[in-house]
Order: sequence, then structure tokens, then C-alpha cells
Amino acid sequence: MRKLTDRFGRVHEYLRLSITDKNNLKYSYNDSDIRTHKGLHSKDMLTKDELYRMVRIFINEFGFKKVRLTGGEPLMRKELPELLEELNVLKKEIDFTIAITTNGVLLFDKLSKLKRSGVTELNINLDTLDRKKFHKITGKDKFLEVMNSLSVALGYGFDKVKINCVVVKGVNDDEIPHFAAFAYLKNTNVRFIEYNSFGPASENDKRFIPVSRIKDIIGREHNISLKEESRNEVAEEFRILGSTGTVSFISALTGDFCDSCRKIRITPRGHLKLCKFSKKSSELDLKPLLRDSKYTDADICKFIAGIARIKKAHRPPPEEIIQLKAGNKITM
Ligand code: SF4
Repeated sequence: MRKLTDRFGRVHEYLRLSITDKNNLKYSYNDSDIRTHKGLHSKDMLTKDELYRMVRIFINEFGFKKVRLTGGEPLMRKELPELLEELNVLKKEIDFTIAITTNGVLLFDKLSKLKRSGVTELNINLDTLDRKKFHKITGKDKFLEVMNSLSVALGYGFDKVKINCVVVKGVNDDEIPHFAAFAYLKNTNVRFIEYNSFGPASENDKRFIPVSRIKDIIGREHNISLKEESRNEVAEEFRILGSTGTVSFISALTGDFCDSCRKIRITPRGHLKLCKFSKKSSELDLKPLLRDSKYTDADICKFIAGIARIKKAHRPPPEEIIQLKAGNKITM
């Protein structure tokens, strides 16, 4: 089996597959293009069969080890149960991890089905532990649904359940200690993520808090120590003394993990992105290839292997990232 390697020797084995652009929560501090996005027409999105075919190619042909289904909100995709059933059959032939990132609103009723369909890792996006604030920043009074889903998920036997918290100055930075206490008390993992928007630098500056500051705030109340195995990973994970809970930090704007990057993304439109921050001009549009019967899996592999060669060594500098067009983020 060949590996998907770029010219810097990085082997890719982790696919982030965005299966819908639709979202039932729109955070007020997200970029305006995301908040006002009307949604793609279904014909412009990969079909369930095309999504499955892409996963099969990455697993069977390139030896990928993990697939994370994302969105928008992936639980809103109607064919998700069928897609997962097919992935679970594939997983029995060749082992790989199926993970999902969700906002948790629809999760409660789906937990059992997800578990039975081979999903072993859940990331739940949650930026506040306050019901009123949740309503205010998302426009929906769905906090209790998310918390119910989360508390059941924690005891449901998944290999990993993590909470993703984007820290936004003036919005939820006052809750950093509460989230750390939540990780401590619930013996779970909270991942603190630096805010990074695509738009005017001044907007980003107003809302940005670096991971170094978040660590300081937590360090005042908890004794935390780095798990060596997570050193230089995208999310550095720290033990909290006195608990099996952990906190992780993702320096979305200030960190540099590109030397060990092993991720490839596919957008709901079927565009392959080599990097979270790559420009549209460097994306590979897989949809026409998948929809033309003259292209075999082997042909598609050649296109993918070819584009992987042009992956850049590093992402753009922070000042360029925040100036990328907001529309770019929708395709992530
Ligand atoms: S910024 Fe791009 S190249 Fe760097 S780690 Fe993230 S996805 Fe990989």
C-alpha cells in the first residue's frame, strides 16, 4: 500500500471530511460569511456514495488511519446513518478510527446509533457553560440539549469524548477557570482553542487571547503538567493534578505544527484542501472526477498524489491568515 507523502516527507493519514455546510448553531463571533451562508444546493455537495468512495480510497489506497466527519454540523446530514453503516463495514475489513465533531444539539438521540456504527471518538464544540450566554451567542436556547448529550456521551463507552472551546476575549474568557474545573470534576478533556477569524486584523485583535495567557489563567488554580507524548502535537495535553481530567491547548494562530502535519481536508463541495489555510487556487476539485465514469479509483489516486506534492512546508504567517477571505473558511 502506498502512502500519501508530500515533498517534505510528511506522511498523511488523517482525513477531515466535511459532510455538510449546514449548521443549526451560528456563533455570533463567527465570520459574517459563515453566519449568513445560505447553504449549498444538494447537487453541489458530494453525495453519500461519493463521500463513501473518497473514504474508501484514502483508507484502502493510502493507508489512512483516521476519518473525522465534520460540518457545518455533521449530524444534520440526512444520509449520515447509511454512510456510517457503510464505513463500519469497511472498518471491519481494514481498521481505522471514525471520529465526529459535533455541536451536540442533535447528539442525544443519536448516541446509541453512532456507537453501534463504529464511531469511537467524539469532539463536542461548546464555548460556554452558561445557558443564557449560550442562547445569546448562538441565537438558540439549546444549552440543556448539548449538556444532556455531553453528560450521557461521557459515560457511553466511547474511546474519547473531548470538548472544544474556542476562547474569545470579552465573550467567554471569564469562563476559562470554569471549563478547567469542568475537566477536573468530570474527568474529561477540554481543548482550549485560540480564536482566529478570517477578516480585518482589528476584529481578530479585539477577540484574540493567546494560549500562553489561557495556560497562565488555568495554572493559577490547577497544577497542570504536560503529557510528554503530546509534546509538539497540534493539541498539547496537560494532566490536572488530582483528576484524570486533562486540558489541551491549540495555538490555532500562534503555534506551528506544520512539520508534523498529517491531515488532508475535503469540503462539502468535494474540494480537497492540503492545508486548513490553503487558498482555493490550490484545491483539487474531486467532484468532476467522481462524477465522470472514465476516472477509476487509480486515476483519482494519481490526482491526489500529484496535488500532495505541492503542499507548502508551512502555513501562511498569522497576519496573512486573518486576511484570508472569509469565504475560504466555509470550505474548511
Ligand atoms: S496549518 Fe496547514 S500545514 Fe500547518 S498543521 Fe495546519 S493544516 Fe497542516
